[in-house]
Amino acid sequence: MAQSQIQLPTIQNWSCHSCSGCCRQHEIEVTPEEKARIEQQNWTAADGIPADRPLFVPLNSVPWSKQFRLGHQSDGACIFLDEQGLCRIHAKFGEPAKPLACRVYPYAFHPRDKKVTVSLRFSCPSVVANKGKSMVSNAAEIRTIAKAVLPEKLQAYSAPAIKPGEQLGWPDFLKFVDRLDETFAQPGLSTLRKILQALFWMHLVGEATFVKVQGDRLRELLDIITTTAVQEVPTDLGEFDPPSRTGMMPFRLLVAQYARKDTTASSESGWRGRWRMLRAATRFAKGRGTTPVLQGEFREVPFEAMDRSFGPLPEEADEILTRYFRVKIQSLHFCGPAYYDVPLVEGFHSLILVYPAVLWIARWLAASDDRENWTVNDISRALAIADHHHGFSPLFGSGPFRRRIRILNRLGDIPKLCVAYSGEITS
Ligand code: SF4
Repeated sequence: MAQSQIQLPTIQNWSCHSCSGCCRQHEIEVTPEEKARIEQQNWTAADGIPADRPLFVPLNSVPWSKQFRLGHQSDGACIFLDEQGLCRIHAKFGEPAKPLACRVYPYAFHPRDKKVTVSLRFSCPSVVANKGKSMVSNAAEIRTIAKAVLPEKLQAYSAPAIKPGEQLGWPDFLKFVDRLDETFAQPGLSTLRKILQALFWMHLVGEATFVKVQGDRLRELLDIITTTAVQEVPTDLGEFDPPSRTGMMPFRLLVAQYARKDTTASSESGWRGRWRMLRAATRFAKGRGTTPVLQGEFREVPFEAMDRSFGPLPEEADEILTRYFRVKIQSLHFCGPAYYDVPLVEGFHSLILVYPAVLWIARWLAASDDRENWTVNDISRALAIADHHHGFSPLFGSGPFRRRIRILNRLGDIPKLCVAYSGEITS
């Protein structure tokens, strides 16, 4: 694959720091060829593989399943993870011998016109911390992985719709994306201010039709509405009302979905697991009493604890959040084939709701620790927890999830939630 066909998120650095987080969080599906190859590697207890655990387990519970994933140790770690937190397949046979899904992480590849964009998963702590080599230095490795993942001849995809029934060609679609990136690239503004401007002009995009406004006319229109956003978004955040009571319920349910941990170790199958999740969802819907513990990082704390002030957002955390949005925007990781085939405007709303959801989860982490101030570490951990799902969990593309996003938008609650949980005003 030619280098020109791959678009890298140049604002992001990454190298693997072998924390083994991904080997504990993900279920790795293997192809029949990968399964056969690993079986031929002849793994035994002498290599440190637990003798009482299978190397592979069926991906679903039906006995005739032909799809398999890697097995796990009793603590939920990958069956091939050693005591030092390293991969045994990698150590013994080299990186190319691993299943492709392990080699790809934390990259994700998405179609963009005649190119492929590269996104990164912020569930990896090294991505959140921007630690490691620049993406340009990683380009050769990314090209090798892309070649293994993508077909030789790239399929031509249409540009994602702007909104239902409103489809433009790639050049015009990308004008919106580039403007979003410019909005988030503005220096000297907090992530919240950039979000409020972007929501303002994307609201106008959602109201307009573009059949007769394309090419240079579209560029002019975008000039006008983005300039208007700079002038019209109130500088006094006190002008934003608190989120509506009606909107808080779908928002809390959204947070609950982001805060779940769906790993082999944490998942409970069958009626017991479903019953526990249903009870947790009911408590989140009510938003009274204490939070159910969705995973080990959280403690049961009063819901109202998340509505008190945890101090201003640390500057470093704000940089992480802006970088997150720019990586997802540049790589189109919020709409079209990269995000459940949703149109641009709806996908953008969904992406922006990560901001208040992450800040709610960060408050929960701080409150779980009996702290009155949040730290960069709280925001980093909350982002890693939330991005584990964003664009990857099938639940997020489901009808009920998408309905919640549309309800919050209809109620005008998205900017209010961003302001309320930003730490820029005391509530
Ligand atoms: S989570 Fe990231 S840093 Fe940790 S092992 Fe996986 S890829 Fe490496």
